[in-house]
Amino acid sequence: HAKRRGGATRWACFDDLMGGDDGEPSLEDDLRTAVAGGQLRLLYQPIVGLPDGELIGVEALVRWEHPRRGTIAPDVFIPLAERIGVIGELGLWVLREACTSAQRWPGLQVNVNVSPCQLDEDRFSTDVRAIVRATGMDPGLLVLEVTESALIAEEVPRAHLQILSDEGIRIALDDFGTGYSSLRYLTQLPIDTLKIDRGFVASLDGTAEGAAVAQAVLRLSRVLGLDTVAEGVETAAQARELTLLGGTKAQGFHFARPQPAEQISELVTAALG
Ligand code: C2E
Ligand code: MG
Ligand code: MG
Ligand code: MG
Repeated sequence: HAKRRGGATRWACFDDLMGGDDGEPSLEDDLRTAVAGGQLRLLYQPIVGLPDGELIGVEALVRWEHPRRGTIAPDVFIPLAERIGVIGELGLWVLREACTSAQRWPGLQVNVNVSPCQLDEDRFSTDVRAIVRATGMDPGLLVLEVTESALIAEEVPRAHLQILSDEGIRIALDDFGTGYSSLRYLTQLPIDTLKIDRGFVASLDGTAEGAAVAQAVLRLSRVLGLDTVAEGVETAAQARELTLLGGTKAQGFHFARPQPAEQISELVTAALG
């Protein structure tokens, strides 16, 4: 349905008032088909402990297997899904799929990305709770990743975050430091985890300047009692430096790439064995 309220901050979300189809078969039409069934796939990237690299959890990352164009990255089709109004359906599919897979991974935390457009829908927290119950997901192992968009501090998104947090579901601020970065959110919203954006990990080069932002985020989260995950760790040197700075969790190609559910099951089996 159309947005209840307008405003500049909502430009990226679907709005019934935004003109319709021009009749051309387009990537948008293809995406509607894809979401309606079968062409979406989830990969899961391990989140590991520092310094040992033990498996703590996974982040679900969606892919679109387009019948003619091949695999399409989420950076391309998520904004499109937001614009044409199918992000709600797509997001619930991702959540259901991830929570279903998670039943094979006892004790593993599962992170699921949530679009600001999803948080703006009245039904969001009701739908999430229904999926958590239906799949048997342990709410304490579910982490919803939200970005610091201008939307999250508004009334509806905020109410959802509180309801879900009261349910025991955890909330992570994704790409921390790159968004609107109002530090007020950290004490006003029920945030559990900060994900240090990979740009700040990339700048770790052994110098004080390179480490400044990652170090500040790690200190801030310690003071506020928040968990942190450093994103985009690509080298052993970055992992070492994060450990020295007090980082306890990381994610990145140095440890593991996003991979199909079957491979995560093998990692879980190996870790138990
Ligand atoms: P994100 O949530 O910040 O996810 C991390 C992205 O960094 C993923 O890209 C991952 O593959 C990539 N990455 C992980 N480790 C490294 C590394 O060491 N180096 C580099 N260069 N990159 C690394 P991906 O899978 O292409 O996803 C891009 C973005 O698309 C995500 O960023 C997230 O914002 C969005 N996205 C992905 N899946 C979903 C979804 O199910 N729903 C929504 N709403 N957004 C999603
Ligand atoms: Mg994320
Ligand atoms: Mg991120
Ligand atoms: Mg991102």
